[in-house]
Amino acid sequence: MRMRTTRTMHARARALLAAVCVPPVLLPCLLPGVLMAAAWEPADILIRGGTVYTGAEVPPQQGDVVVTGDKIVYVGPDAGARYRARRVVDARGKIVAPGFIDAHAHPETYIRSADPTQRLNAPWLFQGVSTVVIGVDGYGTPDLATERAWFQAHPIGTNVVAYVGFGAVREAVLQHAARAPTPPELDSMRALVATGMCEGAIGLSTGLFYDPQSYAKTDEVIALAREAAKRGGIYDTHQRDESSYTIGLLASVEETLEIGREAKLPVHFAHLKALGVDVQGSAPQVIALIEAARAAGQDVTADQYPWTASGSSLSAALLPRWSTDGGRAALLQRLDDPAQLEQIRVEMQENLRRRGGAQSLLMIDADRSWTGQTLAQLAARWAVDPIDAALRVIRGDEQGDSVASFNMTEDDIRLFMRQPWVVTSSDGSDGHPRQYATFPMKYAKYVRADRVIGIDEFIRSSTGRTADLLKLDRRGYLLAGYFADVVVFDPARYAPKADYVHPRVLSAGVEELLINGRPALQGGKLTRAARGRMLLHAPTPGTCP
Ligand SMILES: [Zn+2]
Repeated sequence: MRMRTTRTMHARARALLAAVCVPPVLLPCLLPGVLMAAAWEPADILIRGGTVYTGAEVPPQQGDVVVTGDKIVYVGPDAGARYRARRVVDARGKIVAPGFIDAHAHPETYIRSADPTQRLNAPWLFQGVSTVVIGVDGYGTPDLATERAWFQAHPIGTNVVAYVGFGAVREAVLQHAARAPTPPELDSMRALVATGMCEGAIGLSTGLFYDPQSYAKTDEVIALAREAAKRGGIYDTHQRDESSYTIGLLASVEETLEIGREAKLPVHFAHLKALGVDVQGSAPQVIALIEAARAAGQDVTADQYPWTASGSSLSAALLPRWSTDGGRAALLQRLDDPAQLEQIRVEMQENLRRRGGAQSLLMIDADRSWTGQTLAQLAARWAVDPIDAALRVIRGDEQGDSVASFNMTEDDIRLFMRQPWVVTSSDGSDGHPRQYATFPMKYAKYVRADRVIGIDEFIRSSTGRTADLLKLDRRGYLLAGYFADVVVFDPARYAPKADYVHPRVLSAGVEELLINGRPALQGGKLTRAARGRMLLHAPTPGTCP
């Protein structure tokens, strides 16, 4: 294939030469360079000789990728015979793929920084990620117009895609109230979701695990999801219960599926997992529920991060929901009331058991005296009960209680990872190594070391499949006419460098990363180009003012 194409190109050049070198047109024959230029198309970047994975379900090919402006113009063999590029990237021995898409991320510290260097979003660039999904867990603002203006005025390194968040909408109307909305309040909430969708959100995200979102009943969520459905959006959820806190994992999966059926839109499970000792090992049942829904025609997908510890806070992991109703001030009041404190302690004890005990919670906030210690170690150091140690941290500082909670089994992680409807996400939040190392971790551990999935599946689940489910316009594939988000990485060196105790170490092995056609990483180094865009979903025609 390759040889034939080369010969064809050379034959074309010879024919052109012969045609022009007939007298009286002699002059051009003295200038073969000029002649050849007629056969070449100018291009900006030619990535040559790599193993090219296009993001689709097709085997990789040795070949080239050519970029001009912000678009891919050619993918295939022997681009050098047709294109003359201003810059050539030697990708021999390297893997060339679409830039990775992170389906669930928390990059706020970076992309909202006043510092342009921070806004390059380097933790993601060094993983080969070109697009991050924000506004997840129900926290996305409905005011996407302001978001967009902000990102235009404060350029960022990666593309962003945003959800409008149920939590942001509910708090805007009901604040922290633990009750259902009145009909006029529900109308106000609907209008806010509509605003977000009309300004380019890709759907509605919820975090029904978190208060005050947890106060919402299923029908309230369905009513709002319908506003996203109308405009072609999807429903993304950090579901009500990933464990055995309230309704239980399986009932929570059922609730999510019901929301999709009733509101008539695709549902997407954020960071799918079986969390805690009561539900560990139930991945097969979760998968069976989702497979049954898919077999019945429902559009159901999920994302997943490849780590056995989730990131949370002591408050969210241990405190009973009712204790935080009304916000932090109300919580502190309850902790000062001996009767309520006793009930809180009892429920915290149960939540700690569910999570796997005090040794399974690792304190990961930077620069605290307890950073890198488990709750068990901290309790021993303070010579108090683990619950009292947790309460001391919670009372003392609302920002300082982040934990890595080791609560998932490898078996569940591997089974979820093999499902053809699961994509990669980092859930990357401050202090957890997944923020810096999720994609290389999935590759180094689950592809190379343990062979849980193939490299083709790793790339597909990090690119094209994700772009499809998020309905991104011309992203996620290496195809002519698509936006030039392209990663080149060394398959031998691509690996995580961060760990739980040193979570902020950049990953290794990405040599080139193009975002909208411009190198964000070149020769493995930051270029400082901030060419990320906010990618807006086009709402269904006729559904917006
Ligand atoms: Zn979440």
